[in-house]
Amino acid sequence: MSEGVSQPDRPVERDGEGRDLFSKFDDLIAMREGLLSTGQEDPFNLVMEKVLSPTRAICNGRDTILLGTYNYMGMTFDDDVIAAGKQALDDYGSGTTGSRVLNGTYSGHKAVEEALKEFYAMDHAMVFSTGYQANLGIISTIADKGDYIVLDIDSHASIWDGCKLGDAEVVPFKHNDIEAMDKRLGRIPEGAGKLVILEGVYSMLGDIAPLKEMVAVAKKHGAMVLVDEAHSMGFIGEHGRGVCEAAGVIDDCDFIIGTFSKSVGTVGGFCVSNHPKFEIMRLVCRPYVFTASLPPSVVATAATSIRKLMHGSNKRAHLWENSKRLHQGLTALGFELGTKEPQSAIVAVIMPDLERGAAMWEALLKEGLYVNLARPPATPANMTLLRCSLCAEHSAEEVETILGMFERAGKAVGII
Ligand code: PMP
Repeated sequence: MSEGVSQPDRPVERDGEGRDLFSKFDDLIAMREGLLSTGQEDPFNLVMEKVLSPTRAICNGRDTILLGTYNYMGMTFDDDVIAAGKQALDDYGSGTTGSRVLNGTYSGHKAVEEALKEFYAMDHAMVFSTGYQANLGIISTIADKGDYIVLDIDSHASIWDGCKLGDAEVVPFKHNDIEAMDKRLGRIPEGAGKLVILEGVYSMLGDIAPLKEMVAVAKKHGAMVLVDEAHSMGFIGEHGRGVCEAAGVIDDCDFIIGTFSKSVGTVGGFCVSNHPKFEIMRLVCRPYVFTASLPPSVVATAATSIRKLMHGSNKRAHLWENSKRLHQGLTALGFELGTKEPQSAIVAVIMPDLERGAAMWEALLKEGLYVNLARPPATPANMTLLRCSLCAEHSAEEVETILGMFERAGKAVGII
């Protein structure tokens, strides 16, 4: 090493001993210890001791309103969904113990893929073990060496990880910036394969993408389009197909990615597509092939839930009412929110810093309200957020109770 080049601040290697590979986490460990040493309850280690309904659980021995679960449509305790899961346990056992391409495809896996095809009115549906794996699998398989991925800088971790797993060139653009996206696409060499990746709802601030304009720009450049609708499925759009449906561009989307872990109320992920060659993905997509398929009880609950969501327009309307009221009430109390208008079922409350965010989180929990504390690197622009996600099963009275809790906690912590 030449003189004068500064060395990274690392523990010196000792004879016969390598560097402790955990040393890269030292800053995070110190930050966490600092926070907890003040007596602050750990916001990332809460235990749900008993879950009473989609909107209530016992936490620290106390009946708590759940406002941070992504359980948008409240399907987790639906009678038909639970009955389908119990029946599948009896009929097929607890797990498949195998990959979809070997012994892990049961009639339930086919049935949930049929339900998805009907839900989206699309030709193909492929179910993965999680939404994370759906992004990992589709993105890394479809965009390969010599191809380009153009994506929003605020994309979910599973999208970034999908890019990392593949071999394509990755070109991010500023969040929701149509012009920046257009420019990046314009610089891609002629003839290269292009995949644009967008999300319907961005889960940190609860804002939506201008999909009408963005999908048009992507098509102008001859790019394929993948939209992650994890936070809009079941809720946004006339049939709950997501922001693509609401924006009228669903037929121009080549791939829609979604999850069963939010509106559907269980676990699993999927991709739907109209591409005529889509089925080949089942043989070439490693996060689909090299992992065990979902348990029969899970696919049975998912299929039942998806079919019920097709007729969920009353619930969708109530969820919009809840979202609007919470947004308006928090604004009136003086909280700073992630969006000026409610755009989804996520209402993000911006905290001045992590310490006060954590204190506010704890004050709300003591009031009997659970929300998500979100911090970097999950959040954009280094923000600390209290993320509220509403449920169609929250009553109008519960939303008023929640506002009262925010008012008392906000005043106690000095946020408002
Ligand atoms: N995409 C987005 C936008 C998400 O927010 C999430 C989960 N929070 C996922 C994908 C992954 O979904 P899953 O929980 O099914 O792995």
